[in-house]
Amino acid sequence: MVIRKSRAEIEKMRRAGVIVGETLRRLRQLVEPGISTRELDAVAESSIRSAGAYPTFKGYRGFPASICASVNDEVVHGIPSARQLKNGDIIKIDCGATLDGYVGDAAITVAVGEISPEVRRLVDVTRESLLKAIEKMVAGNRLYDVSYAVQHYVEERGFSIVRDFCGHGIGQRMHEDPQVPNYGRPGTGPLLKEGWVLAIEPMVNQGGHEVNILSDGWTVRTRDGKFSSHFEHSIAVTDSGPQVLTAGEDGEIIL
Ligand code: MG
Ligand code: MG
Repeated sequence: MVIRKSRAEIEKMRRAGVIVGETLRRLRQLVEPGISTRELDAVAESSIRSAGAYPTFKGYRGFPASICASVNDEVVHGIPSARQLKNGDIIKIDCGATLDGYVGDAAITVAVGEISPEVRRLVDVTRESLLKAIEKMVAGNRLYDVSYAVQHYVEERGFSIVRDFCGHGIGQRMHEDPQVPNYGRPGTGPLLKEGWVLAIEPMVNQGGHEVNILSDGWTVRTRDGKFSSHFEHSIAVTDSGPQVLTAGEDGEIIL
């Protein structure tokens, strides 16, 4: 069952979301060759806690850190470690914050130094596909209109959609109904209603869509070893259109 949020609840979610947005903005600035994913995690945790929030991921089903840090062929759910980023890498940073009982969830892909034109294109297409999906977050559209917006944009450009993981409703829990796949038939699925808040998160592969979960029980990696990109924001359906609740303090959508 999809839990609709009142205006007041959406404002609470925005306050949680801003902390996520500002944390991602800070991390984006720190990404450079030589920094470890564990250092990024430490900055994220202190950024979230100093804003009075709790890092939602920490302890979630036993996850040990405040961010997921997934490099290159790692798709999502990478565990921060001593691994140092290198020139030409891409890192997907996924971050959650809980404030006053409400959760924000967002992710960005960041280039480390100079990346190849092919990888640049993968990242650009993934980012743009999220913006296409956000445009569909309007009452009266159907859920798979959102899904199809991602799929169509990505597949037209020769990339593939990860099928084993998807976006989700979000509110007092990080994962609520409905599931939001990044593929689907337009014009189908439940009607979007004001008060729905969805975390939309395209996961896009350079090669095939198949993924494996590593023996750490968390890290998801492409089966063919090619790169993957991921962006995510938490978005409300409102009477004034889509509202990105995980934007920065100044309203900038961190991408
Ligand atoms: Mg996330
Ligand atoms: Mg999510």
